[in-house]
Amino acid sequence: MNYTKPNGWFGATSLPQKSSNNTKDVFTAPNYTFLVDNPIMYSLPDTISFQVNNMRVHVAVYSPNKMITAAQIMPDLEPTARALDNFFGTLPVNQYNFLFYFADQSVPLPDVESGLSGYGALEHSYCSMYYLPEAPYSGYLKQLIRDVTSHEFLHILTPLTIHSKQIEDFNFVTPDMSQHLWMYEGLTEYFAHLIQLRSKLVTEDDFWKEMRNKIDETSRFDNFSFTEMSKRVVEKDFEKYYTSVYQEGALFGLCLDLLLLKESNGKAACAN
Ligand SMILES: [Zn+2]
Repeated sequence: MNYTKPNGWFGATSLPQKSSNNTKDVFTAPNYTFLVDNPIMYSLPDTISFQVNNMRVHVAVYSPNKMITAAQIMPDLEPTARALDNFFGTLPVNQYNFLFYFADQSVPLPDVESGLSGYGALEHSYCSMYYLPEAPYSGYLKQLIRDVTSHEFLHILTPLTIHSKQIEDFNFVTPDMSQHLWMYEGLTEYFAHLIQLRSKLVTEDDFWKEMRNKIDETSRFDNFSFTEMSKRVVEKDFEKYYTSVYQEGALFGLCLDLLLLKESNGKAACAN
């Protein structure tokens, strides 16, 4: 793929690069699946990279009003990457890109009312893309970035590695959802907090406060089946339950972990 770009722009991506000069980049991908799994973010370069065990981490930041820089984020990302390394033993990939697009908050989000847009992040096998509000880099944003980056990276476990056949052969035109959204999001969200506890990036108090909040949040929903909701989440009647995967879904992870701990006499749990 050939990209013509404004002079000096940089395409941050995990795609293999064949050649590059000031105005043109050539990237390669062996197939379509690999291509869509590797987005490219073009902007004037603000990048930084560091090594954690076997993995090279690249960070690219676009902040239209220059409020946030890659160098500012790095002190929060590096301990997170080390916590992930602790959790995995050996990191599952040799290189990983964190791509941050901070949106100018004075520009209204497009199409908010239809629910088709908003801030968020998306996981891929070798990178994750973040679309977050641009604000001075301080407490709230730091913790948000620690939580969201560990969450997106941990999606390498599920659904990127462990998933149903619907995800393996995902139909982008007519999505056929699997029954496991609660697992993909819930276990990932639980792990995102667990790894921070294990590496002492948060205290035990912080961890239980987070779990307590999730318990409180469950009261916003009436009773429903998580497997049915997972399967039918794109339907009007079920999309209202979607955010529960990050709350009660994470509590399923906690409960499964406690059960493993109990049944194995403390030998087989994640939370040892
Ligand atoms: Zn997620």
